[in-house]
Amino acid sequence: MGAIVAIVGRPNVGKSTFFNRLIQRREAIVDAVSGVTRDRHYGKSDWNGKSFSLIDTGGYVLGSDDVFELEIDKQVELAIDEADAIIFMVDVEAGVTGMDEDVAKLLRRVDKPVFLAVNKVDNAQRAADSVEFYALGLGEYYNLSSINGSGTGELLDALVEVLPEEIEQEEELPRFAVVGRPNAGKSSFINALIGEDRYIVTDIAGTTRDSIDTKYNRFGFEFNLVDTAGIRRKAKVKEDLEFYSVMRSVRAIEHCDVVLLVLDAQRGFDGQVANIFWLAHRNNKGVVILVNKWDLVENKETNTMKRYTQKIKTAIEPFVDVPILFISVLTKQRIFKAIETAVEVYENRNKKIVTRKLNDVMLPLIENYPPPAYKGKFVKIKFCTQLPTPYPQFAFFCNLPQYVREPYKRYLENKIRENFDFKGVPISIFIRKK
Ligand code: GDP
Ligand code: GDP
Repeated sequence: MGAIVAIVGRPNVGKSTFFNRLIQRREAIVDAVSGVTRDRHYGKSDWNGKSFSLIDTGGYVLGSDDVFELEIDKQVELAIDEADAIIFMVDVEAGVTGMDEDVAKLLRRVDKPVFLAVNKVDNAQRAADSVEFYALGLGEYYNLSSINGSGTGELLDALVEVLPEEIEQEEELPRFAVVGRPNAGKSSFINALIGEDRYIVTDIAGTTRDSIDTKYNRFGFEFNLVDTAGIRRKAKVKEDLEFYSVMRSVRAIEHCDVVLLVLDAQRGFDGQVANIFWLAHRNNKGVVILVNKWDLVENKETNTMKRYTQKIKTAIEPFVDVPILFISVLTKQRIFKAIETAVEVYENRNKKIVTRKLNDVMLPLIENYPPPAYKGKFVKIKFCTQLPTPYPQFAFFCNLPQYVREPYKRYLENKIRENFDFKGVPISIFIRKK
């Protein structure tokens, strides 16, 4: 399970500049909470081989200082609740402000690692100026310039040092996370799924206070449910509810093998649902899409499901090899099928294709449709193999790997999917030099 790192600080200190430096832009997902706050950003980053989720809790309020103070309190509270480590960013140009002092006061009471990052230290003169931030009472600080990148390495070295190690599970049961927007029917689904308490075998305390695996034995399947509860309890207003659920989803997704993405049939596969979907994909998790409340969809004819499926597929291109089920928790329609499918996806994710079999299938297909020649040079793929990783990754060995482009990789992926069942599971293709 990857760790979560939150960046806090007042507006304009450079949080998003820093965030963008660490995250490949196209990989960031944005939670646009319209009107009230600025977009919040989530993304994955890694340093020294350790990967973590980075959250720019950012939100600032277009309004009075009072409103802003409330907002930053909330931001810090969220970070304290949800993150494994906190980066508190301040701005050397502005010096210590009252707002910085307020945030520091909150952070001094936390027993999670806090890194004080003094930003905009673009030159040596400014490095000297930053001593005033000792006054915040947070001890050691890191000088950096998010714009030119200097100093960020030192901060990241120290940061990944304190992040929790990935924990190996001693028993391999499928871990399912039920995620989705508020009101999609997640809790109802879980209740329907687990039925009475006697189906609960045992509680396993998770790696952190907030993440709990609960072991279930139901319908002849044994699995762990990764808990995403506790959202409603904490959230007081609507934007918070959305934000908490995204935060919680980030954590649950990191911790599971298969994501059961529940959506409300009447709301459809909207941007927020898509965010969760791509988060699962980026984390190489299995996915099952459950279109819930199907009982509420009126005038269903034979084509309704087909059209709905097609719409979702358009939204999730090119990763369309994903099971989409239409369920109703209310009438218990296809609840069992949902779990059965999740187990299949789990098995697909763990599937290992024997190298000889893979080559027998793939080499003739490649021969038939080789990578296009590039600048008059021919690419010859000689051999392929599935890598011994916890999720499907394939390496193809050839003479000129740099000439194999995305479209051809997609061709290879499609052929793998056509010949071996990897439904619901992201596949990575690597082209290596032989
Ligand atoms: P946020 O509101 O905390 O997310 O701040 P932004 O990342 O939007 O940055 C606010 C302003 O500070 C922008 O104009 C940035 O270009 C600028 N900025 C960010 N980092 C640096 C830095 O390291 N040095 C300097 N000189 N300016 C910076
Ligand atoms: P959560 O916020 O995702 O956990 O959603 P809940 O499980 O609390 O469900 C939100 C609302 O949708 C509740 O009023 C449920 O009774 C209702 N609901 C859940 N599943 C279904 C369903 O399949 N059909 C109908 N008609 N209502 C449902």
